[in-house]
Amino acid sequence: MRFQEVIGHEAIAAKLRSGVASGRVAHAQLFNGPEGSGALALALAYARYLHCSDRGEEDACGMCTSCKQYDSLQHPDVHWSFPFFKKDGSEQALSQPFQGAWRERMLQDPYFGQEEWLNAIGADRKQLFISVQEALEINRKLGLKSFLGGWKILILWLPETMRVDTANKMLKLIEEPTDQTVMLFVSERANQLLATIRSRVQMIQVPRLTEGEAATGMHRRYGISVDQANQWLHVVEGNVAAALRLRSDDGGDDDHQLFVQWMRSCYAQDTVTTVSLADDFAKAGREGMKRFLRYGLHMVRQCIVGNYGAQSLVRLTEAERKFAEKFAPFIHHGNVLDLQEQIEIAHRDIAGNVNGKLVFMDLSAQVNILLRARG
Ligand SMILES: [Zn+2]
Repeated sequence: MRFQEVIGHEAIAAKLRSGVASGRVAHAQLFNGPEGSGALALALAYARYLHCSDRGEEDACGMCTSCKQYDSLQHPDVHWSFPFFKKDGSEQALSQPFQGAWRERMLQDPYFGQEEWLNAIGADRKQLFISVQEALEINRKLGLKSFLGGWKILILWLPETMRVDTANKMLKLIEEPTDQTVMLFVSERANQLLATIRSRVQMIQVPRLTEGEAATGMHRRYGISVDQANQWLHVVEGNVAAALRLRSDDGGDDDHQLFVQWMRSCYAQDTVTTVSLADDFAKAGREGMKRFLRYGLHMVRQCIVGNYGAQSLVRLTEAERKFAEKFAPFIHHGNVLDLQEQIEIAHRDIAGNVNGKLVFMDLSAQVNILLRARG
């Protein structure tokens, strides 16, 4: 991740670079920006720039040993921390067992949110946190000599998940920094941090990206057409992580076909077809079933938005639009909330490992009743 790869935020990047050029590098800095704003990407580009041995005015060189190490996120003087859970049977709560998953997720793309991280480490509904032991471990690592003789950099994602005792340990580290150390905290909700921490770090506010900036950036970064990116970004107010989530939720034609057949079979009370669709549904696996239900929720919402005449907010492909025109009259203020609730309950049940076929049949019975309710 170099500055040129970061979406938007040119002014912040310029300020960070000029700080480095003039030797003003605060030892504790807090990048505070909402999910999908790219605060993590900025912090990573900044760390690379600090470490680069041949940095230019605009960016890291991309060629030096340090840059090469950043390419694979294997720089020995960069330490990562992030929220995690204590693995069953492990004595200490440390991020160490999750470092591999973290590197992989970061290399894939640093525009992600907590949901993606939970999925990446199979945390299900576990509460993630940064433990006291982790804070002590960070203290120990930063106390070691720098491997390459330059900065030792800590990048800590979501410091707001530190518990009070952890935060106090971290505070000590901020107040009495070890030599040649730069701590970069990347937060989504800095207001949840201890005031004592907030007052001792240099705050870098990373605002939400405008939809235009984000769309251009997503086009450059992921090769998505600007129109398509705009459609997603419009719904999620410029949050790149959430827009990417919508993209991965896009199961393409399969989800759409299944949904169309399903709605028809529900409305017609065609139990034979519904049972066979339940098989197709269950075959998709847990993530696939969840994705399909989110898709169903999305379709129901789009129908109601269209019904209320807010056509500019409707976000559907051509095939979906055709179907929605016929389907929308069955969705109205009398059943939409219940429909959404039933789909959400099904989603929760699937996440909680309830049998997919049962969930699907149960939901189908509810949907049948709701679709027949008069508006
Ligand atoms: Zn370099």
